[in-house]
Amino acid sequence: MIIQPKTRGFISLTAHPKGCEGNVKEQIAFAEKHKFSSAPKNVLVIGASTGYGLASRIALAFGGGANTIGVFFERPSEKDKPASAGWYNSVAFKKFAEQSDLSAENINGDAFSSDVKEQVIDLIRQKYGKIDCVVYSLASPKRTDPFTGEVFKSVLKPIGEPFTGKTVNVDKDEVYEITIEPATAEEVQATEKVMGGEDWELWMQALHGEKLLANGVKTIAYSYIGPEITWPIYANGTIGAAKDDLMRAREAIKFLLGDIGGQAIISVNKAVVTQASAAIPVVPLYISILFKVMKEKRIHEGCIEQMVKLFSDRLYGPSAGKSLDEQGRIRLDEFELHQDIQDAVAKVWPKISTENLKELSDIDGYKQEFLKLFGFGLSSVDYSKDVEV
Ligand code: NAD
Repeated sequence: MIIQPKTRGFISLTAHPKGCEGNVKEQIAFAEKHKFSSAPKNVLVIGASTGYGLASRIALAFGGGANTIGVFFERPSEKDKPASAGWYNSVAFKKFAEQSDLSAENINGDAFSSDVKEQVIDLIRQKYGKIDCVVYSLASPKRTDPFTGEVFKSVLKPIGEPFTGKTVNVDKDEVYEITIEPATAEEVQATEKVMGGEDWELWMQALHGEKLLANGVKTIAYSYIGPEITWPIYANGTIGAAKDDLMRAREAIKFLLGDIGGQAIISVNKAVVTQASAAIPVVPLYISILFKVMKEKRIHEGCIEQMVKLFSDRLYGPSAGKSLDEQGRIRLDEFELHQDIQDAVAKVWPKISTENLKELSDIDGYKQEFLKLFGFGLSSVDYSKDVEV
């Protein structure tokens, strides 16, 4: 089958197996150039197929030599329909890991469910004994409560008052103003249920309860803060409230892991192009401007650069436990939020419009990276060729 990109706003209906494999290969090459020795041996990555979770898995396996279990929720291919990008990424990851004598197991299913937790528990017991590191990197629009069966849907809305701000239509290269009405109390709670810390806690309780966590285990979840222009929709919005709940969960997990000397950590990462960030209003426009500024200053980073830095230096390397912020979090967003960078972004923000979008921002770079998430635009792939889906 010949596969071409088919995008609608922030979603892509197709993905290219060879292109996804090429992306994984590229990230592996970066991780292999930055090997580190103090890595954990057995790692569980929840949300391992795309974005920060995939990059975490690659950094830990190919940079640190870890065995990995990856949990994700992806769509396999059907007769004449390609699989989702995360499916192809995970197939490629496993193939390359095994070629490098690294154990890699994939579990495709709903990480929020008790069933998937049990599958992972069985697998750890049979094959790995104990887990040294648990990465929690889920981004999901909904969650079914495993005990009540109730379905919660997350929303990306401000809290308290409406928000009006600039955003971009990436299909039309059009900058326009949107107004988003504030979330209801129910929507705030639902977003917390989906993107907050409850499920992270449930995973850690289940693994700890089955005595599958090694002494000194570390578990990490990811957060974002960003600049003031995105606060009404991010940090002070429904998703920010869910990220606050992660902080609550961190304390509960620290307490839980006290008897085995375990640690629960939150890392605040920089804004990158992923399927999750593309869905947030305002953020793609901000990222397009940010990328232009950071590329000009030669400090541009994507998922793999951030995750190699995280695991080789901040979580296991020389800076472990050091340079945390006042709330005890690791800050990988230090370049993004540096005053010089934010001043440069703030200068452009009021001026940006449809007319000057290409000149004042890196919208083309943003779109290239977006297509690349689905395996498109790689020079190593011949897209006119038939490919097995
Ligand atoms: P992403 O969309 O690329 O990845 C989400 C992952 O979650 C995928 O592996 C997907 O398969 C998995 N997933 C979703 N629902 C699932 C389910 N029910 N069961 C099993 N797996 C499921 O997202 P991302 O941007 O890499 O986000 C990961 C984390 O990083 C999130 O906590 C996000 O808030 C945080 N973060 C993202 C950014 C950014 O700019 N993208 C910045 C800072 C922090």
